[in-house]
Amino acid sequence: MTEMNDNDHKKLGQELDLFYIDEKVGKGLPMWTPKGTAIKFELENFTRELERKYGYDHVSTPYLGGEELYKTSGHLAHYRASMYAPIDMDGDVFYLRPMACPHHIRLMQRKPLSYRDFPVRYAEIADYNRYEKSGELMGMIRTRYFELTDGHIFTRPDQLKDEFVNVCKMIAEGMKGLGLEDIVSYRFSKRDPNNKEKYYPDDEFWNRAESTMKQALDEIGFKYTEAEDEAAFYGPKLDIQAKNANGKEDTLFTAQIDFLLPEKFNITYVDSDGSEKRPVMIHRSTIGSLGRVFAFITEHCEGKFPLWLAPVQVKVLPIGETHFLYATEIFDKLKAEGIRVELDVSDETLGKKIRNTKMEKIPYALVIGDKELADKKVTVESRDSGNLDAMPIAEFVSKLTEEIRNRK
Ligand SMILES: [Zn+2]
Repeated sequence: MTEMNDNDHKKLGQELDLFYIDEKVGKGLPMWTPKGTAIKFELENFTRELERKYGYDHVSTPYLGGEELYKTSGHLAHYRASMYAPIDMDGDVFYLRPMACPHHIRLMQRKPLSYRDFPVRYAEIADYNRYEKSGELMGMIRTRYFELTDGHIFTRPDQLKDEFVNVCKMIAEGMKGLGLEDIVSYRFSKRDPNNKEKYYPDDEFWNRAESTMKQALDEIGFKYTEAEDEAAFYGPKLDIQAKNANGKEDTLFTAQIDFLLPEKFNITYVDSDGSEKRPVMIHRSTIGSLGRVFAFITEHCEGKFPLWLAPVQVKVLPIGETHFLYATEIFDKLKAEGIRVELDVSDETLGKKIRNTKMEKIPYALVIGDKELADKKVTVESRDSGNLDAMPIAEFVSKLTEEIRNRK
């Protein structure tokens, strides 16, 4: 085994107690600890806010799907090797879903569609089960169960380019908001036109899809590279690539244009002239799988999460027993404001308590001693800016809530 990089998310995840893999629960099935779950919930809120801003409707669909669903979608024909064994219930066969596209399609088809209904944008943080070889499993990056910030856009052909532009803008905003813009790059993945087996054989469809995607990328001035023979079976992709702690590049998530599934599910709408038309689909993730993006963020910030993501945002450090009561009062106040706070009532010296807070990479420590008690103030030690002036607790709370609201 090679030595693990200090910023490897597996190492930091254990040191900071963020997730845990238990062999009895199963390989490739990491569990989020309470601290990790705090981060996960923040990522979920971030995702849904961004999606609302970009006009998505949220849906919620089950993680099982019937056999017919995956026959129609082609998953059983092309994706079987990554799916778990079927479950037979009273003669009906179900699969743990590897993707939610078919669910979203069937949900959209619940009523007749007119050209006025488009675009339809469905988003869901959906849980997936995919088989991965045990040798390829890696921490939170490659797992057998994950939650993808997934979504599907159904558009009229004339809306496709603008919709793809919006997808790119949303993705760029998301990566910036998560502080990942420096390690993320974009790859436009095209088919190999000579390989007729690997790619859906329809030149006209490929030319349309690839030129639309290129137009969208150029229009917003995205910096991207082009890669041939990296597309999906059914269409070109925009791959959002990110570098891990070891400098290795991996795909964080993708956005894809798809003309094929609308055909397979026979999705149609009535156009303005009364004729029947077929929409186009975009498969896209907002920030990737929660686990994978968490891993990249952890590595990139070296476990020093920004305040809004930090599992513990503040630690209250009373110097001695006489300060416990006031410290508890402050702890309760912060908790009531929804701030994630811990209180250290151990017998350790103040120096040791501060060192522990630094080891745990907690953004703020509040020191409570005689002076603070007398002045009804708190002395603030910031992880990133050092020792700040003593301030009344109300001032600290408003500074903190402001920073959290702005996702600093
Ligand atoms: Zn999809």
